[in-house]
Amino acid sequence: MRPEKLGILLIVSGPSGAGKSTLCKELRRKRPDIHFSVSCTTRPPRPGERHGLDYFFISSDEFRRKIGQKAFLEHAKVHSNYYGTLKSEVMGRLKAGEDVLLDIDVQGAMQIRRNSRKDRLLSRCIETVFVGPPSFAELEKRLRSRATESERLIRERLDDARKELEFWNEYDYLIINKRLGEAEADMIALLDVLHKRTIRLKDSGFYE
Ligand code: ADP
Ligand code: 5GP
Repeated sequence: MRPEKLGILLIVSGPSGAGKSTLCKELRRKRPDIHFSVSCTTRPPRPGERHGLDYFFISSDEFRRKIGQKAFLEHAKVHSNYYGTLKSEVMGRLKAGEDVLLDIDVQGAMQIRRNSRKDRLLSRCIETVFVGPPSFAELEKRLRSRATESERLIRERLDDARKELEFWNEYDYLIINKRLGEAEADMIALLDVLHKRTIRLKDSGFYE
């Protein structure tokens, strides 16, 4: 018997440098059926980032147009740039039983959680995970060693991190990314166990 299911909407947040992208990449490698929701952003691409794979890199005008068209499930200003999750990346897939992975900031996560209270599909699919660093000093070290931002932007991200860290207990799950291998295993175990939840089963005729 293969019951019909809705997909999981796995929302991953945490301060910049905590290791979200690293953990999401490994989760996608080990569980390739999950769809990574590609966000729109007005920030410029980093070396190696590709349009349509990491982000849709768009202008502020285009971003505003998409807000007007109500194309976003959520959008927010994060570290001086705009970021938004496209409904088209998410809703149809969940309905069709496909899991969707979102790497978004706490403002975006809280917006979706709020909206999910009056949306039957979202309320059954949403699961939220906060990825935290083992310490603030380690977060700073990681941001510096990643070396993808200027000193000014690192400072800005660290200031924002202090505020973001206060939100950890708004999330369903907390993964502290201390030893990478352990945190990766936690993410995979979490996704596997979330597949067992009855809330996403389409219940008609399950035992007929
Ligand atoms: P985020 O997506 O949360 O901003 P990244 O995944 O880009 O963070 O990770 C920030 C930096 O820290 C990267 O250089 C990454 O390789 C490194 N990193 C991630 N996890 C760990 C870990 N457990 N221990 C040490 N370094 C890590
Ligand atoms: P980065 O610029 O390092 O890729 O991402 C900066 C922050 O923006 C991260 O916290 C990331 O989770 C968040 N982010 C990425 N895409 C989105 C999105 O679509 N919406 C929101 N609200 N945040 C996002």
